[in-house]
Amino acid sequence: MPSSTRGYAVQSAGAPATPHSFTRRDPRPDDVAIDILYCGVCHTDIHHARNDWGRAVYPLVPGHEIIGKVVAVGTAVKGFKPGDTVGVGCLVDSCRHCSACDAGLEQHCKEGATWTYNDVDRHDRQRTYGGYSERILISEAFVLRVPEGLELSSAAPLLCAGITLFSPLRRFKAGKGKQVAIVAWADSATWASSSPRPWARR
Ligand SMILES: [Zn+2]
Ligand SMILES: [Zn+2]
Repeated sequence: MPSSTRGYAVQSAGAPATPHSFTRRDPRPDDVAIDILYCGVCHTDIHHARNDWGRAVYPLVPGHEIIGKVVAVGTAVKGFKPGDTVGVGCLVDSCRHCSACDAGLEQHCKEGATWTYNDVDRHDRQRTYGGYSERILISEAFVLRVPEGLELSSAAPLLCAGITLFSPLRRFKAGKGKQVAIVAWADSATWASSSPRPWARR
């Protein structure tokens, strides 16, 4: 049955995020229910809050750098259990059968990925609401395991700004001795310049 959740929502373009109660969907068999501990503030959140891109729908609950604890799992969930520390990033679903999804590139889903907030769930057509909230339900296919030992409040920005930087470095095999140039801005640039790992530098 749907559950009431508290969060912070932007009610109109340029308005501040204010306390807001809303309903999360019915849990599905492949759903992981997550109590949210931390959520990063991405500049995308600010763009949507201001409707800079002209596609914000209000009320809008931002947040796609989510760290939390699993509190319940659906009957079909195999990879997670209550108590696990997990993360959720920018997308929460995709068609799962196109060539992009088959290649593990769900962000390029030919039918369009479902974004964590300011989007529409592809099954029930309900709006998606993000991590500036107490709880979220996500299909296990889009839940990420968070390794032991990470400082959780610092780990949250890895889910968008961090991965945006890390993914191309890994793809192009940046490593010791390799010189790279990074064109980045905002959060990702911060990660590039502050990373303790030498692959971000000469
Ligand atoms: Zn982001
Ligand atoms: Zn797809």
